[in-house]
Amino acid sequence: MLPSLRLGRLAGIEVGIHYTWLLIAVLLTGSFFGYFSNTYTHWPLRTTWSAAIVISVLFFASIILHEMAHALVAKAYGMQVRTITLFALGGVAHIEKQAATAPAEFWMGLAGPVMSAAVGFLCGWLGSWLGASAQGGFTPVAAVLLSLSSLNLMLAMFNLIPGFPLDGGRILRAIIWALSGDENRATRIASRAGQGVALGFFGLGLWEFLGAESLSGLWLGLLGWFLLDAATASYVQAEVLTGLRGMRVSELMSNDCMTVPGDMPLQRFADEYVLKTGRRCYAVEDRDTIIGLITAADLTKVDSSRWTQIPVMQVAHPLAEVRSVSPDTPVAEALQTMGREDLNQLPVVEAGRMEGMLSRGHILRALQTRSELSM
Ligand SMILES: [Zn+2]
Repeated sequence: MLPSLRLGRLAGIEVGIHYTWLLIAVLLTGSFFGYFSNTYTHWPLRTTWSAAIVISVLFFASIILHEMAHALVAKAYGMQVRTITLFALGGVAHIEKQAATAPAEFWMGLAGPVMSAAVGFLCGWLGSWLGASAQGGFTPVAAVLLSLSSLNLMLAMFNLIPGFPLDGGRILRAIIWALSGDENRATRIASRAGQGVALGFFGLGLWEFLGAESLSGLWLGLLGWFLLDAATASYVQAEVLTGLRGMRVSELMSNDCMTVPGDMPLQRFADEYVLKTGRRCYAVEDRDTIIGLITAADLTKVDSSRWTQIPVMQVAHPLAEVRSVSPDTPVAEALQTMGREDLNQLPVVEAGRMEGMLSRGHILRALQTRSELSM
């Protein structure tokens, strides 16, 4: 999920909101208004609205702080963090790769709830210190701080529920990983727990929605659905990675990569290669060395009226700029790269020389063969 609205950069990380968050911001402000107007009946209307808006903005900032804590620990472990996005069901930090070790996963998972708990205690302490007003109830500032305190403590506790991909599930995964030394097994167990938690939320939400006709039931149901989806995806991914264990790119790659002379005009490339072979990716050769890659899709970058004048070389992606793997790369890692970069194939390059191509199709066939053999 990418941000639809960028807010700015914080510690080198892009912070943004997905449009679904705007809907929640309106609902949230409305329900805070309801809460404050029922609890503090003597407040003027303007104060009640201001308090509702201020707490919504501060709650939004609390979620950013929570995600920022995950992100900064990830950075400390050498992982790239691109963006933090807030959406209807909370926040998400886009961390470039998965934690390499169990301790990294453990501290990354724990950082968010610890931050929320710290903010919760701080707001609670400040709120009680500022204390009550002359009219009996809390002053608006103290009331906002105390509500913010409970929200942050709830955020911390909710996230500690041990079902992957909630933070508690990540911590559970890290502990099983450290104890068993088997990362994929840890993911499978933590994801199963996540599926259980998700089904619980879903059932509870449905029951509340139908029984009490409450909107919060609908929200809980949606959250359950979202978590079930994420937990199931993690489970399947762990199964696939287990299936690929021990395999290297060199075992699966194809060496029969078709080469195209670099000085060939695009028109001939289209007629004699793309249309005849139906392949999507070709290596571009110049003076007996592979200098780059060209795909059928690259043809669309040049107007077809100019195809006779422009050589393949000019449109090709130089080998150094293309995302590639080495023959020794584990297949599981190559698959993760393809997923992250949304690629269907990767060139296999060693010491500047192209050795072959690895595609999703190669990996799928290998997985099928392995599962047939193990039956
Ligand atoms: Zn978190």
